[in-house]
Amino acid sequence: MTENDATTTDFIRARIADDVAAGINHGRVLTRFPPEPNGYLHIGHAKSICLNFGIAQEYATRCNLRFDDTNPSKEEDEYVRAIQEDIRWLGFDWGDRPLYASDYFDQLFEWAVVLVDKGLAYVCDLSAEEVRATRGTLTEPGSPSPYRERSATENLDLLHRMRAGEFPDGARTLRAKIDMAAPNLNLRDPVMYRILRAHHHRTGDAWCIYPTYDWAHGQSDAIEGITHSLCTLEFEDHRPLYEWYLAAIGVEQRPQQIEFARLNLNYTVMSKRRLLQLVREGHVSGWDDPRMPTLSGLRRRGFTPESIRTFCDRIGLAKRDSTVDIALLEWAVRDHLNTTAPRVMGVLRPLKVVVESFPEDRVDELDAPYFPDDPPRMGHRKVPFSRELFIERADFMEDPPKKFWRLAPGREVRLRWGYLVTCTGVVKNEAGEIVEVRCVHDPGSRGGNAPDGRRVQGTLHWVSARHAVDAEVRLYDRMFRVPNPGAGGADFHEHLNPESLEVLQHCKLEPSLSSAASGDRFQFERQGYFCADRRDYRAERPVFNRTVPLRDSWAKIEQQTGRGHNA
Ligand code: ATP
Ligand code: MG
Repeated sequence: MTENDATTTDFIRARIADDVAAGINHGRVLTRFPPEPNGYLHIGHAKSICLNFGIAQEYATRCNLRFDDTNPSKEEDEYVRAIQEDIRWLGFDWGDRPLYASDYFDQLFEWAVVLVDKGLAYVCDLSAEEVRATRGTLTEPGSPSPYRERSATENLDLLHRMRAGEFPDGARTLRAKIDMAAPNLNLRDPVMYRILRAHHHRTGDAWCIYPTYDWAHGQSDAIEGITHSLCTLEFEDHRPLYEWYLAAIGVEQRPQQIEFARLNLNYTVMSKRRLLQLVREGHVSGWDDPRMPTLSGLRRRGFTPESIRTFCDRIGLAKRDSTVDIALLEWAVRDHLNTTAPRVMGVLRPLKVVVESFPEDRVDELDAPYFPDDPPRMGHRKVPFSRELFIERADFMEDPPKKFWRLAPGREVRLRWGYLVTCTGVVKNEAGEIVEVRCVHDPGSRGGNAPDGRRVQGTLHWVSARHAVDAEVRLYDRMFRVPNPGAGGADFHEHLNPESLEVLQHCKLEPSLSSAASGDRFQFERQGYFCADRRDYRAERPVFNRTVPLRDSWAKIEQQTGRGHNA
């Protein structure tokens, strides 16, 4: 599959191609991604980023990064920085500098004056509560504000005094004069400005009136010359208002708003409000906790930008909301790491093995390829074999069933890249627990094959005890126990998975991992994909996160959706 195959067919790209062919906007295409800096980006945003920046790449134009910073009390510079880092990490670029809706506050105010002049907006003295109460319902029209028929002169005077700070917070609003009986509630004289004395992260205290999202958004698109303003379905009902404002201010080239379904993932919550709650209440260690569906969390977990872009390609674009199985995201990262992450050996729950036949002072440096399927690609490393080793506790059973192909008394297994060993017995502690497994090796089997060609089924990973790197390994599971946390009026907290994080100490990793750097990704053979933690990894105190286990549950998804690996 090439990147383009998956992306040429969706309805938005088809629509844009039609517009270009019809010479609309002289065939120009300009998109934007407009995050509100009130939280970190999540995987849902990645869908919108891949769409907007992806289209820009396909048309060799630009996608603007515009911070929708119209709501001063919630915005923080930390978010502005994090959002840029995440978009860059995903592999996209927005030209010389990010843009801010707050850069347009002067122009927006001038346009508001134009609307007042034209008799299309008025200053209303009703409180927010009263505005809401007189708005009507889906079945009943709203009732006109008593201030609706103010003269343009009076409105202009009041608007300037609002801006000058003569009235207390919330005392007045500027409202568009549209239609209080419109079937679409968004057209019932929506508020354009509210009075709010709040410090703004960029404009400081210059303003005490702030534009609403609806008043700011389309006009910001128009100022930037955006041709296609792509947003999620909840804005569909806002489109008539978006178009009304653009017509009212009388701009020539009008951006076209097109809506698509937002990404929902099962076993997670996605809204920034809920994610913020998880952070504030300490259910996770921060926005970048590897269990979070945030881009910073996924990055720390070990996801690659490529895997997230592939995922976004695969889910496609629809006009109806649906929920995507998180297994598809896991498949995407597995698929990428399978060909990019070197294979190494790490024992998570160690059990000591003594190879009685191997001399105490001897170390055999075995040759092991990083990519067994493609050995020349990333070369080899040396793996030391010695008398005392660790294997995985689960790879030994004293009294195994017949089809247990791993180690058991009297049975022979292959130690990966090393020797064939046969178990001769066990050592137990006073409590009767196995603390050591005793073996003998076949000296002629160096590299893993029997000299007489006998078949040995099981191959185990292992680490030399003396050479092992002692590490902390963090295993992550789904953050929620149920596919749809918080559904049916339940509190989503009730669905948190108490076992979403398991921390293992004193895991034993092969010595080549002592030169790992934070952020490096590996496959620990037979275990899964792991990543040196970006925050906590130290050479003297290694910490690895499990990105995903090896097991591939994609086969199941394939059946459900009828889409194959190479569809
Ligand atoms: P949330 O509801 O998670 O708080 P939001 O929509 O308030 O998100 P914004 O910062 O306003 O977040 O979003 C920036 C852009 O990303 C918008 O164009 C929005 O439509 C898009 N977006 C947000 N969430 C999703 C999602 N789950 N799937 C696709 N696009 C999304
Ligand atoms: Mg929003």
